[in-house]
Amino acid sequence: MNWTTLSAFVLFMGLTQSGQYKIERLLSIATNYSQVEKTIMLLKYPNTIITSVPCISPLQAEDLRRIPVSSRYGQRLHPILHEYKHHSGIDLPGQMSERVHSTANGLVIATGESRNIGKYVKIKHNFGFITLYGHLSKIKVCKADSIHIGQVIGLVGSTGRSTGPHLHYGITKNGKEQNPLPYCYLYLHWQNVLIREGKK
Ligand SMILES: [Zn+2]
Repeated sequence: MNWTTLSAFVLFMGLTQSGQYKIERLLSIATNYSQVEKTIMLLKYPNTIITSVPCISPLQAEDLRRIPVSSRYGQRLHPILHEYKHHSGIDLPGQMSERVHSTANGLVIATGESRNIGKYVKIKHNFGFITLYGHLSKIKVCKADSIHIGQVIGLVGSTGRSTGPHLHYGITKNGKEQNPLPYCYLYLHWQNVLIREGKK
């Protein structure tokens, strides 16, 4: 059963005892942000499902409704190579040594240093999500560490191919690249919807 068919089924049947399992199944087979968001909106009370999905910004923003981004996902003029290249994540401007937080519960599957993204941390989450944090000045976790949402995993830096301190943040789901930006607002968005529905 694909996502569209299963979500129609869940909406038709309502969320019974097996609802939690169906939401987990929907999240596992979702392929894009839109499907992930629609599934999360079926959750009516806080539980561990939302905290297992990348749903916050890895850097603390002054205004959570307006997260500053210095380079977006997709085609862009590369700041060092000066040619059009695909950008596999988003760049978030940060202060040197500012704390970088995991955006969901998960497990560290890799840490290291590469020529392009410098010092990096890779975390595996439920439902096929992997998040990547690059250009770090310091790595604060080890491979196989169990991580909770919001935990500090490293510090902002400018290692690798970088023109100044910033965080490169990437998300893949079932191996497919995602635009990480809408995911940075997912928790806030879900809370707002719950509040709005509660007031009705
Ligand atoms: Zn980047």
